[in-house]
This record gives sequence, C-alpha cells and structure tokens, in this order.
Amino acid sequence: MKVVDLKNKVRTVLTILLFVSVLGARAEAELFTRTQYLLGTYVNIMIWHDGETEKVEKAATDAFAEIRRIESVFSIYKPDSEISKINREAGGSLIPVSAETFEMLQKAVAIAEETEGAFDITFAGAGKLYDFQSKDPQVPTQKMIDKALFAVGISQLQLDDGNRRASLASAGAKIDLGGFIKGYCVDKASQVIIKQGFGDCIVNAGGDMFVSGKKGKKYWKIGIRNPTGSRDDLSATLSVRDMAVVTSGDYERFFEKDGIRYHHIIDPRTGRPARKCKSVTVLAKKVIDADYLATAVFVLGPEKGLALIEKKSDAQVFIIDDQMKWYFSKGFKKSCSFSTTR
Ligand code: AMP
Ligand code: MG
Repeated sequence: MKVVDLKNKVRTVLTILLFVSVLGARAEAELFTRTQYLLGTYVNIMIWHDGETEKVEKAATDAFAEIRRIESVFSIYKPDSEISKINREAGGSLIPVSAETFEMLQKAVAIAEETEGAFDITFAGAGKLYDFQSKDPQVPTQKMIDKALFAVGISQLQLDDGNRRASLASAGAKIDLGGFIKGYCVDKASQVIIKQGFGDCIVNAGGDMFVSGKKGKKYWKIGIRNPTGSRDDLSATLSVRDMAVVTSGDYERFFEKDGIRYHHIIDPRTGRPARKCKSVTVLAKKVIDADYLATAVFVLGPEKGLALIEKKSDAQVFIIDDQMKWYFSKGFKKSCSFSTTR
C-alpha cells in the first residue's frame, strides 16, 4: 500500500513537473523576424513573443500588406498610383483623390511652410534630373537645373478642398512624397502589429523605425551607422521604447562622379544634393514626423536644423555634419540612453 502510494505520489509529482515544463516551453520568449523588399528598401519586422508563432506570422503578414497598400497609392514608380496620376496631369486638370491622399498632400503643404521650403514634395521637379538607378548616371547642367527650378515650390500644388481634388500648376512640376511616406507606412504597420496583441516589436524600413515595448527585460538597442563607414560600422547606439527613430543619410541612395557624391536628398532652393550634413537622426512620437524632420534638418544643416527641432516639444535630433562634427538637441541624450563608440 505504501509502495503504491509512493508510486502514485512520484507519478503525480512527475506529471506536475512535466506540465510545468510544457507550460514553460510554451511561455518561452522568442524573436520573430521577417524582411521584405518594399518601398525601394528592405523592410524588417521583429516581434518579441511568447511562442505564438501562427499569430505572430499573421500580424507580420498583415503589416507587410498594409505597407504594400500604401505603396500602391503613393509610389511615383507605380504608374497607377494616385501620385503618378497627378504627376502625369501636371499643368492640366484637377484629379480626384482619396481622403488618405488628400490628407497627406495637406500635410505636405503644412510641412513646406513649417520648414520654409526645405522639405517640399515639389523638389521632384528638379530631383528627377538625378537618376540613381541608371548604370551611367549623369550630373545635370546648371541650365537644366535652372529650368527645372521654375516648377519647384509648394505653390505648384493646387488643392481643391471642397471636391477633394489635386493638381500641379506647371507642366514640368512633379511631386514625390518619399520624404515622409516610408515613415507613414511604418506607423501604420506598427499599429497593425500592436493591435493584434504584440506590443514588443520593431518595424524598420531602411532606417525609418518604430520601436515598441521591449525585448524581454531589456530595451531594444538601435545602432546609428557611421556615415563614412561600412554598413556594420556604428557611430553610436541608443535604447528607446515606444518611440520613432529615423535616420536620413547621404549613403542611402547616391552615385559618384569625379569624386563627388550625388545623393537623394535635394535642396529645393538649389536643385542640388544638400551638402551640410552626412547623417541626421530624429526621435519623435510618430515615424511620419521623425521622417520629414530628418529630411528637413538634412537640407537646413546643423544650425537651422537644430533651431527647427528645438521649437518642437516632442522631437530630438542628432546631426553629423559634412565635417563629421556632432550636434545634439538639448534633450536628445536624456531621451534615449545614448552611447558612443568613439
Ligand atoms: P529620407 O531618406 O527620408 O531623408 O528621404 C529621402 C527621400 O525624400 C528622397 O528619396 C526623396 O524621395 C525625398 N526628398 C528628397 N529631398 C527632399 C526635399 N527637399 N523635400 C522633400 N522630400 C525630399
Ligand atoms: Mg525622411
């Protein structure tokens, strides 16, 4: 009897142990990561979860689908996008657009005013003279630039609020929302993942990211690239949670001719690549805001760029200028556990 009892006890204990260990295995946290090529860059999603593989997979799939949806509306590389239609009709009639597009165009006008034209989606009238995809890219002549600049300026964009229509005043005008749409995509994709119950995640579209929650007990750690080094060479790292982190750099898209780098951030006043910065990192609540601010500060340069950021209550900036000199807004280091390797 005693022996049987003991056996039963041992069995019960073993069963409990097994149950606990199965539960433990199920509750073991894991890192899920997926990358897709979208928006002309690699979009990476990382989710820290407790073994809910199928649900995580679905959340990431839905998030990528949301980015693909937004890309089909705003891309200048897709002929059927609403933005391509506006560009094709430049100098012609008003085009009816969706509420989402109209909202983004209104935001673009407000940003152009706030940044005194440093961030201006009509930069593309001159930006189109630089072909970063070409095998034999050409540097435009001053004559070409001067001609193109006639069609640059936010007053080119005409918005008909009553009927939700948009058009461009001159035939040579062009808009490109690439300076903040990546950020908008990251905001929307992160919301999809968070709403499905995964609050610990990062969505990163080629340097535009939203950092949500934590990676287990630790904060997510973000690397800031050395703009003159290789992809893995970092200038600094920072740790944040529930925050947008966006870096604009002159190394993202460029070609070189006669030892000069021609990159993708264009000063709308000169029609040439902006020269005062090498890298600008902005922290903000929303990625769309961090995105436009990083591009605007890049164009404005350290002095005016810092002044723009200091005026805002909820944004911080770290700038590396063309001489590799570093600048920080007043609250930057406090807001992100900044640490440097230099
Ligand atoms: P980012 O990498 O976020 O700085 O964005 C660079 C992208 O913004 C470029 O590829 C263009 O699509 C767009 N862009 C470049 N210069 C400007 C500018 N001055 N104003 C608004 N958008 C710009
Ligand atoms: Mg940007």
